[in-house]
Amino acid sequence: MIPLEILGLPALRVVDIFDILIVAALFYYIYRMARGTNVMLIFWALLILLIVWRVANALGMRLLGALLGAVAGVGLIALVVIFQPEIRKFLLFLGTKTQLNESLWKRIQFWRHNIQNTSNVSYEAYVNACMHMSQSKTGALIVFKRSNEVEELIDTGERIDALASSALIEALFFKNSPLHDGAVIAHGNKLLAARCILPVTSRLDIDPNLGLRHRSAIGVTEQLDVLSVIVSEETGAISYAIGGTIHHDISPVELRQALEKYEC
Ligand code: ATP
Ligand code: MG
Repeated sequence: MIPLEILGLPALRVVDIFDILIVAALFYYIYRMARGTNVMLIFWALLILLIVWRVANALGMRLLGALLGAVAGVGLIALVVIFQPEIRKFLLFLGTKTQLNESLWKRIQFWRHNIQNTSNVSYEAYVNACMHMSQSKTGALIVFKRSNEVEELIDTGERIDALASSALIEALFFKNSPLHDGAVIAHGNKLLAARCILPVTSRLDIDPNLGLRHRSAIGVTEQLDVLSVIVSEETGAISYAIGGTIHHDISPVELRQALEKYEC
């Protein structure tokens, strides 16, 4: 215990230090996720409201205190409604990023691979297809399922459930194909669906040269534990996004390494 009583402050216990550290970490992660989005503006507005409320109470301004108190009363429900997508992202972040969870997940996947005997996923088909589409400047967007279920995404497009081959992937994204628009959803050697619609990122700090294909590729990785691969129709550049971060203009070798690293 740190004797702060001398300064007229309550005693600081060890548990208080942990308390402060946990709250600081929580605020840091909220800030990191909200950075560059509109959420940050709402966050500052709420902080100002909270400070004004506290000051009004401390100064004995009863009318203002009561008014802001009433706002705070319904505020919690309003917060849950306003921040619903961010709360979802945060819970997903906790659920998928913690070390314990990750190692547990890897173990489950290992068992599952053993049971299904599909441990030798070859990313050859995807890498070759992306290479060809990059050369011919054919736009493409492939989302690889990882730990999350992706039924919501599949429901926005056409279910296909086919074995992945370079020719099939290229045919799907061929400009005159009825399925070429939107995203293909894949998992391991399987193509699960095509023409799917992805959530577009709301971040404001993204390269303005990147259009909707890239923005939706980033957006989907903010909300789900997936990896998305983009081939640009304009430049032929291959990129991939994971956890809300885009790795732009990568080589086919780097693409293969990413697919292997993140066990797509
Ligand atoms: P490119 O470099 O290929 O031009 P871009 O990032 O500039 O890509 P756009 O030119 O806007 O993006 O690409 C439009 C294409 O992206 C659409 O034809 C569509 O196939 C795809 N697309 C756009 N929005 C979405 C979305 N929300 N979900 C899935 N696919 C999308
Ligand atoms: Mg474009």
